[in-house]
Amino acid sequence: MIIAIDGSAASGKGTLAKELAQHLGYDYLDTGALYRAVALSLINSGMDENNITENQMVKYASSLNIALTRSAKIRSSAVANLASKIAVMPSVRAKLLIFQRELAEAPPSGQGAVLDGRDIGTVVLPNADLKFFIDADINIRADRRTKELRQAGQSAMFCEVLADLRMRDHRDKSRSVAPLRAADDAITIDTSNLDASAVLQMALAYI
Ligand code: C5P
Repeated sequence: MIIAIDGSAASGKGTLAKELAQHLGYDYLDTGALYRAVALSLINSGMDENNITENQMVKYASSLNIALTRSAKIRSSAVANLASKIAVMPSVRAKLLIFQRELAEAPPSGQGAVLDGRDIGTVVLPNADLKFFIDADINIRADRRTKELRQAGQSAMFCEVLADLRMRDHRDKSRSVAPLRAADDAITIDTSNLDASAVLQMALAYI
């Protein structure tokens, strides 16, 4: 079974995806980590991120070192913001799409896969067996993300995190290729007033 989970930043989609994969014995792919890793490889290269062309970015996506997706460095707000700028580039998306589909078509577990991102149910895996769209009030999301960043030892101010999320939501929803939106056949869960275990139980009930 293939499960697609899309949603806004800090909505709880990643937590749900990870827990579902663990519960079901499926593989899990955090597709946001791919975009973040491309952003981090650009930062590591020392090139000026404001003067980078789409062709140059495709090269970073093509030669992506997957180990970077597991680096704690991809979790900063700076990397998240750069990832969302890179994510508007159609040819970068096309490169990363191949990797995502390959994992879903042949999950190493041989059981199934859970992928989370912004365009999984609409573009990457439109034929997924089950699709969820996860969202929450932006103030609650900003509060969660602020706490997460602080727990990871980063300095984070609620108002700055809120502004970053607003900007990223806007960029992700308004881009011309694969914008963030719920697939027509997705089940929407608003996690504003739910904890992670309640969200997991709801999703399991649907499955
Ligand atoms: O999910 P996460 O917040 O880690 O994603 C970082 C950024 O990567 C998002 O703001 C979005 O711009 C981009 N992204 C995307 N499509 C995906 C996953 C992430 O455009 N499937």
